[in-house]
Amino acid sequence: MELPSAQEWRQRAETLRFRSQALINGQFVDAASGKTFAAVSPTDGRHLADVASCGEEDINRAVASARAAFEDKRWSSRSPTERKKVLQQFARLITKHRDELALIETLDMGKPIADSTSVDVRATADCFDWYAEAIDKIYDEIAPTDDQNLALITREPLGVVAAVVPWNFPMLMAAWKVAPALATGNSVVLKPAEQSSLSALRLGELALEAGIPEGVFNVTPGIGPEAGRALGLHMDVDGLFFTGSTQVGKFFMEYAAKSNLKKIGLELGGKSPNILLSSYRDVEGAAKTSANSIFFNQGQMCTAPSRLIVEKSIQDRVVQTIVETAAEYVPGDPLDPATRMGALVDERHTARVLSFVDAAKEDGATIALGGDRAREDSGGCYVNPTVFDNVTNSMTVAREEIFGPMLSVIPVEDADEAVRTANDTCYGLAAAVWTDDLNVAHKVSKGIRAGLVYVNCYDCDDITVPFGGFKQSGIGRDKSLHAIDKYTELKTTWIRLNGSAD
Ligand code: NAD
Repeated sequence: MELPSAQEWRQRAETLRFRSQALINGQFVDAASGKTFAAVSPTDGRHLADVASCGEEDINRAVASARAAFEDKRWSSRSPTERKKVLQQFARLITKHRDELALIETLDMGKPIADSTSVDVRATADCFDWYAEAIDKIYDEIAPTDDQNLALITREPLGVVAAVVPWNFPMLMAAWKVAPALATGNSVVLKPAEQSSLSALRLGELALEAGIPEGVFNVTPGIGPEAGRALGLHMDVDGLFFTGSTQVGKFFMEYAAKSNLKKIGLELGGKSPNILLSSYRDVEGAAKTSANSIFFNQGQMCTAPSRLIVEKSIQDRVVQTIVETAAEYVPGDPLDPATRMGALVDERHTARVLSFVDAAKEDGATIALGGDRAREDSGGCYVNPTVFDNVTNSMTVAREEIFGPMLSVIPVEDADEAVRTANDTCYGLAAAVWTDDLNVAHKVSKGIRAGLVYVNCYDCDDITVPFGGFKQSGIGRDKSLHAIDKYTELKTTWIRLNGSAD
C-alpha cells in the first residue's frame, strides 16, 4: 500500500481540523456544563483540541434521542436490505477518508501511521461492510411443534444500546460493537475513551453523511467515572457493551445491578501465555513472531502474548532472537511510514508501564533489554521494547496486565508445567502453543482456558471468528455472527392454527 511520506503527513497534521463537540440527535453540541478536556497528542505533546466533556445531563439527552429514534422506528423498521445499503455506504466513506481518519488516530493515541491506515481504518470499514452484508442473510426460525400451532422464534433489536470503549484501537473497538448493533436495528450511544475521542466524533459525522438517521448514532465523549458511569446507571439503556480493563468491567456489572439490569457484554484484559516448546522445528521463527506480536501497537493489545512460557532447553536461543527482533521496534516518529513502534497513549500510562521495570528488578527478574524511555527530546511518550528474563509466574510482571511493550520470559521444564503455568492467572483471553507434535498441540490447546488459542501462529485475525475471553477476560463475544446474539432479544410467538379454543 502506497503511503504519503513522513513530511507529507506532518504537513497534513498542521492543517487537520477536529470535530470536538458531542454528537447528540444529529447535531454537534457542547456539553451542557460547557466543560471540556484537552486532547493532547502523545506523539509530541501538542494540543489537538478541547473536547466536550459529557456529564449526566448530556447522557440523558443522548439516550433520549436514541430512545425517540428507536420508538418512531426511523431505523429499526427499515428492511435489513435497506439498512445494509446505508451501512455499506458508511463503510465506503470510511475507506474514502482513510488518510484523514488514520492521521486522527495516530495523532490522538500515538500508533504508527502505517498501522492506522493498514489495520485500524481498513478493519473498521471491513467490520461495517461485513455486518451490513450479513444482516439480510440471517433467517429467523419456526420451532418443530405440533401442526396445530406455529411457534415463531424471531430476533428483535434490544432498543437503546450503549458502547463504552478503550483507546488502544479507538475506531475498531467501537466498530466491533456499533456495526452489529446498528445492523440489527438498535439505536446507539457511543462513549469513546477520553484519551482518544476524536476519531469516534469524525465517524459519527460520516455516519450522518452515509444516511444513518439523526438520533440513531450518538457520540458522547467524556470522562469514564462521569459519562461512562451515567450510561451504566441509566434506566433507559437496554444493553451496555464494554471493552476495557477488568476493573472497570466489574463496575459495569454493578451499575447494571443497581439500575435496570441492562444486558451487559464485557471484553476485558488479558495476560496471555505463549508456550514455546522445543518440539517446534523453527524456534527462531516462533520467537520472531512472538516478538512482533508483543511489540505491535506498543504492546497495548488485550491479546498481547505478554507471558512467554518457554522450555528451558531453548530459552537462551529464544531470548536472543527476541532481542534481535526488537531492534526493528526502536521507537520512531509515528508519522513516518517506516516506524513500527510509536508512542504510548499518554504520560500517565507511560509512567505506569515504566513502574513495572522496578517491580521486575525487585522480584529478581533479569532485564534482558530496554526498561527505559526513548525519544525524550520529542515531548512524546516513548518506551523502548523491554524483555524481562528468568521471570517466575508469581512475579508482578507475570501477573498484572502491563499493556506496554514489555515481555516476561518464564522458563519451564516441559509441556505439562507450561499448561499449569499458562492457566495460573485470573485472565483467559488468548494463548498460543508452538510444537510440531500434533498430540501435544491438541492436548495443550484443549488444556488452556482461553477464548482464543493459536497453534504455531499468533494474532491470526478475521471478522468471521468470535473474539472474547474466559474467566475475568470477559462475558460474551465480539465479531462473527455470534455477536448478533448480544444485540438482539429472542422472541417466541405462538400462533394457534385451528381456531379451536382448546
Ligand atoms: P479502561 O477500563 O480504563 O477504560 C475503558 C473505558 O471505560 C473508557 O471509555 C473509560 O472512559 C471508561 N471508564 C473508565 N472508568 C470508568 C468508570 N469508573 N465508570 C464507567 N466508565 C469508565 O481501559 P483502557 O485503559 O481504556 O483500555 C485498556 C484495557 O482495555 C486493557 O485492560 C485491555 O486489555 C482492554 N481491552 C480489551 C479488549 C478485548 O476485546 N478483550 C480489547 C481492547 C482493550
